[in-house]
Amino acid sequence: MLAQYLKGVGPKVAKLLRKLGIETVEDLVYFFPRDYEDRSNPTGIADLQLGRTAVVRARIDDLDHKLTRNRFSVLKADLADRTGSIQAVWFNQPFLARMLRRGMKVIVSGKVEFSEFDEVKQLTVKDYEIDTGQNQGIVPFYSLTEGLYLKKVRSIVRAALEQGLPEVIDWLPEALGKKHKLIALRDALLGLHQPKKMSEIEPARRRLAFDDLFLFQLGLALRRKKVKTAQGNALDIDLSVLDEFRASLSFKFTAAQDRVLSDILADMRSAAPMNRLVQGDVGSGKTIVAAAAALLAIKAGYQAALMAPTEILAQQHFEKMIRLPGYQNIRVELLTGNTARIRKTKDQRPKTDLLIGTHALIQKTVEFSRLGLVIIDEQHRFGVLQRADLVKKGSNPDVLVMTATPIPRSLALTVYGDLDRSVINEMPPGRTPVKTYFVPEDKRGSAYEFIRNEVKAGRQAYVVCPLVEESEKIDLRAAMDEADRLKRDIFPEYSVGLMHGRLKSEDKDRIMAEFKSGGLDILVSTTVIEVGIDVPNASVMIIEHAERFGLSQLHQLRGRIGRGAQQSYCFLLAEAKSKEAKLRLKAMIDSTDGFHIAEVDLRLRGPGDYCGTRQSGLPNFRVADIIRDEKILKEARKAAFDLVEEDINSARNIWKSQGQKAEKPASGATFN
Ligand code: ADP
Ligand code: MG
Repeated sequence: MLAQYLKGVGPKVAKLLRKLGIETVEDLVYFFPRDYEDRSNPTGIADLQLGRTAVVRARIDDLDHKLTRNRFSVLKADLADRTGSIQAVWFNQPFLARMLRRGMKVIVSGKVEFSEFDEVKQLTVKDYEIDTGQNQGIVPFYSLTEGLYLKKVRSIVRAALEQGLPEVIDWLPEALGKKHKLIALRDALLGLHQPKKMSEIEPARRRLAFDDLFLFQLGLALRRKKVKTAQGNALDIDLSVLDEFRASLSFKFTAAQDRVLSDILADMRSAAPMNRLVQGDVGSGKTIVAAAAALLAIKAGYQAALMAPTEILAQQHFEKMIRLPGYQNIRVELLTGNTARIRKTKDQRPKTDLLIGTHALIQKTVEFSRLGLVIIDEQHRFGVLQRADLVKKGSNPDVLVMTATPIPRSLALTVYGDLDRSVINEMPPGRTPVKTYFVPEDKRGSAYEFIRNEVKAGRQAYVVCPLVEESEKIDLRAAMDEADRLKRDIFPEYSVGLMHGRLKSEDKDRIMAEFKSGGLDILVSTTVIEVGIDVPNASVMIIEHAERFGLSQLHQLRGRIGRGAQQSYCFLLAEAKSKEAKLRLKAMIDSTDGFHIAEVDLRLRGPGDYCGTRQSGLPNFRVADIIRDEKILKEARKAAFDLVEEDINSARNIWKSQGQKAEKPASGATFN
């Protein structure tokens, strides 16, 4: 039922509710308070303390309503209880002057402050109610929007519960509820809206958070089941090919790379399609592992596709692969927005062994004859749907997802919860961790001096300017000006290049190639270099306005250096005003461990902000919060996966009737 048909809700209020994301009665039932106040133990007026919030239960002794010159309403009341009296003040609620009367009994909550104007202690009212002698002890506070008042929202929600609760069906199998000590759904809904005791809130929240996470995991478990039981390709892996490939490299795989590769081989050999995430910090050597997997798939008679999030990165993968000694007789092609016109003709397609590209790969015109392996690099940049679109171009191909974003486990279970996971948790030998320093503005000159010395010694440097949105003209201007300034005033003796997202791809390629070959000493860049760029000779990075970057982004950026054997240095130029910004910088200085940094990032930012909710495919739950509810997440995940194994029909039915509900409407993840 639409919320509009509830008593007390007309078209005008319905419109305001829509601003809060509420359309239906069910939406209201799931529109939970953001806070509560316990009024069962009011404070005696004599005991009120300055600066604290408190609840008093008192009689109105006197009332005084004034309008200021600019028609601002100030309503003052003298309140008294057995212990004393105090002035209470309501700002800008003129209608109250008509409702409150001398002699009325009220329950008032607010903050005890000192009124400079009257030079007395006063209670600045946050909320009040008429004392009927039967008031509820605990009152809920809801999010509001302009024109919609707390009391109105409370009464609408009450009406929605009266109407909606009897129709609520507790879909959770009883055995599961028992096993996980969850209260009944109706009790939980009531418990969150109208708790009789504060201690009722937590069990109610727990039940509803479990619901969100269980339903979400049920979707993942079903999707995974579908993949696992699908008829994929059992690849005939020729191990001598792998031996030759290894022998052709100038280095030995790390133990972690070996382990991950053997996970991948087992998946490729199996008839069930591979559905695996390879997680590894920047520079841990994921790409070469993917190259080995692609080669084995190709030698087994299949085609492979590798999708990367940016042109630069696709280009770089392409350059690397074609140069690999093991790829001598492999036909590798590149397809990006830029090359699409030339290469998308169908008759060329069957000749390609490995097609590398950007999301241009998912265009309709791209067809494969025997796509056996899909590799997706930097998955968090692609939506779940884009992954699916590429996969559809084959007949249940093996899928390998690579991410350098070392997302914490709780997030991995949500975003990648349907994938098997392998972690490259070891760096190739000989790497020295990057040293990171905070540089205040007045030490900028020393940072430039440092760069000068490094370049003199044959190294290269990055200067990164923030450009949070590629469309932000002002930031772009700043990056251009900075490049000019460095060229002209600071490093006239060196060659300085500029790289940003607005450049044509030919220009990007040319500049990148120039930097790689050593033709440029210093590269001023926006965050387009964030992902995957590999120039081992670069040993210094200055990050301008480091306070404006997110922590995982800073870590990604820093990953561009420290890729060779020499010591590398990262200078964070920042004006860290907020406490959070300071903590971000501190985490960067203290650690180079991507997993640690990701955990800190998550704690500081909350999952909502984490690498852009949309992009990351992170759901926006009704109640659950993946940081706070990590423990519930684990329980719910196990319960969901177990249910799919034990009773798939029941799992399917629950998913069909409830599955879409775990998330708030505006969220991103979709299932198919
Ligand atoms: P990632 O893709 O994980 O960021 P890359 O695959 O680009 O990392 O590897 C970073 C660099 O390390 C590359 O130059 C690569 O050739 C090199 N590399 C990869 N594996 C090893 C290894 N086991 N030993 C030495 N160098 C390696
Ligand atoms: Mg397989």
